[in-house]
Amino acid sequence: MKYEAVIGLEVHAQLLTKSKLFCACSTQFGSKPNTNICPVCTGQAGTLPVLNKVAVEMAIKAGLALHCEIQEKSIFARKNYFYPDLPKGYQISQYEHPLCLNGHLDKIHIQRIHMEEDAGKLLHDLGDPKVSHVDLNRCSMPLIEIVSGPDLRSAAEAADYLRKLRGILVYLEVCDGNMQEGSLRCDANVSIRPIGSKEFGTRAEIKNVNSFKFVESAINYEIKRQTERVEKGEKIVQETRLWNQAEGITESMRSKEEAHDYRYFPDPDLLPLIVDQAWIAKVKSTLPELAEAKAKRFVTEYGIPEYDANVLTAEKPMANYFEECVKANNAPKKISNWIMAELMRELKERDLYITEIKVTPKQLAKMIGMIDEGVISGSIAKTVFMEMLDSGTDPNAIVQTKGLVQVSDTGAIEAAVEKILARETENVKTYKSGKTNVFGFFVGAVMKEMQGKANPKLVNEILKKKLG
Ligand SMILES: [Zn+2]
Repeated sequence: MKYEAVIGLEVHAQLLTKSKLFCACSTQFGSKPNTNICPVCTGQAGTLPVLNKVAVEMAIKAGLALHCEIQEKSIFARKNYFYPDLPKGYQISQYEHPLCLNGHLDKIHIQRIHMEEDAGKLLHDLGDPKVSHVDLNRCSMPLIEIVSGPDLRSAAEAADYLRKLRGILVYLEVCDGNMQEGSLRCDANVSIRPIGSKEFGTRAEIKNVNSFKFVESAINYEIKRQTERVEKGEKIVQETRLWNQAEGITESMRSKEEAHDYRYFPDPDLLPLIVDQAWIAKVKSTLPELAEAKAKRFVTEYGIPEYDANVLTAEKPMANYFEECVKANNAPKKISNWIMAELMRELKERDLYITEIKVTPKQLAKMIGMIDEGVISGSIAKTVFMEMLDSGTDPNAIVQTKGLVQVSDTGAIEAAVEKILARETENVKTYKSGKTNVFGFFVGAVMKEMQGKANPKLVNEILKKKLG
């Protein structure tokens, strides 16, 4: 029997507010432990939470961009459980009445988006003696949880959905999308069923996966594990599992029997959240241009192919980088080619993000202009570009100090051509016998002779003339 996977993702995104969800403490990442805390977020008796309006607006933005119905009335509840990183003894989260319902991302249904606060963090020191520390800076950080329908059918599809979702949140500037720092975390619900079956199988929940690659590996592992079990006639247990990256496996954390009863009830310290149409309209008017719209505009405004536009707009900083380049040198297609080939390859190679490189858009635009003006050849440009990436130096300065200016002196090129033709007598005979496809070989040899600095147009002309 053939099986198909049924996958749903629950994504936690930390909102980019300056202060926490229910108090004025800073949300600054990487602060010294227990410095961004106050009586409210550490759950001292007698304190009262006050809802952060900006956080609500960011959650509405996410809801609108994901085509959700924004609920006029949503309610914060207490999710009760004990853990040392949760001094209050409960987490405030929207439960029965979330802020956003029924959206979608492409064909994937978004069941709900609700607001909640984060818990603190335990730091385990496995030295001697073993101790655990608690950092409460993360307590009450503002989160939204975006819950997809069980609509994904493969690990690759799930990773693709997560990438797109991240792209949208970053575009909206409601989340920085940093998975390493935990600003974006993902739980995956995975089950399998015979192809054609409408019923769902028993699912396992993989908790807190924090990279696209891990999401894909964890889901693939889980599909394989469940398929093997079912094929052996064993039952799948409903449980929570953790991804062990070192061993490449998921491991059972707790089964349903041990699951918590959270005893949810509306938080008596918080009024229902009321969002009227006027507020929604106001937030809607502040929505930025998203990737899809931006790609369409790039096609019409810059005349670049749809493929290029989609690649360039997938990430907002990359789209901005491209537009800055075009502002400095109105050659959109050439700039797009350079970014998609050379720049993106080097980013991958050097494991850098576009915002981390030393080359400014102006510098890249200038370098591409220098190719057009015949100052440098395309192949020399690659050398110049590497140097720019390494040092952030202006292309002009690199070309001058390294003597990389393109040679357009016909005398020098003629001399090189003659030298090559004198050396390659056999190939010349071949060429003259009518096999003109060796011409490219001559061009390459002359360029090599001149360390790649010869003007290729002149090399072609002079070669043609000399070969007769
Ligand atoms: Zn606080």
